[in-house]
Amino acid sequence: MYSVRMRAAKGGAHELGGLHISGAERLAEAGCLGDVAKAMIERALTHAKGKADFIRLTIDEVADEVRIVPLPMIKTIDVRDEADGLCAAKRILEEAGVAQIAAERAIAAVANGEKNMRGAMAVAADTGQRVDGCGDRGIRVSRMDSQDEQALQLWLSSLGLTGIHVREAVVLAAKVMAAPDVAAELCWSDDPGYVAGYVAAGKTYHRITKLKQYDSARGGRIFFVKPGADIEALRGFLERQTVLAALREAGR
Ligand code: AMP
Repeated sequence: MYSVRMRAAKGGAHELGGLHISGAERLAEAGCLGDVAKAMIERALTHAKGKADFIRLTIDEVADEVRIVPLPMIKTIDVRDEADGLCAAKRILEEAGVAQIAAERAIAAVANGEKNMRGAMAVAADTGQRVDGCGDRGIRVSRMDSQDEQALQLWLSSLGLTGIHVREAVVLAAKVMAAPDVAAELCWSDDPGYVAGYVAAGKTYHRITKLKQYDSARGGRIFFVKPGADIEALRGFLERQTVLAALREAGR
């Protein structure tokens, strides 16, 4: 099996100040690499945020042990507007043990940040202080995929969720929820046409139908980590441990 990763930017490479356009992570057998790579390149060239002029595709063989983790349950919370959505997000975060101040700081960091990151910020669940030390890049969760793509697609369709955003987010959230010391995750997309977001905590992916205004290109991801967490171990797991997210493992 191979890990396939793509990151795309406009105005040059990310590290040279380019605007992040799109990223993707998959695991694939050798025979599927061409199709997976082609789909990623097309995505970078046709993204709603613009046509990438920098595309970095990385393919490497997975040599380490693969861990199977459960996919979360999905619960949709229908809200009237983004203000209601953010209230719902804060309530769920607090139930997951995130302090109010930490939730508010994190939401402000995503909503008012200077520019979108290509990874996620890790912040302390008790204070909201950034703890990852990864600067503009953030922690990029990688080396994960679904164990059975057809079963995942059938399950999502049965819930009326057919887009690529949810498919990718539940697989990523499955890995994040299996990570040591993560209390919760908050995310909304930087895709201007996609306003839904989520809070993942425990075994549940709380899909919130509006977390930002339509046409806004601001988005981001926050991992709330428990006090005393080993940040290097967390980063190592999220960036390097190979993970397959499975429905069966979740008893469904
Ligand atoms: P997206 O839902 O793909 O628009 O992603 C929303 C935000 O989440 C991006 O702007 C990044 O900051 C972050 N993000 C996307 N993919 C990842 C990833 N694999 N690992 C960590 N953060 C990510």
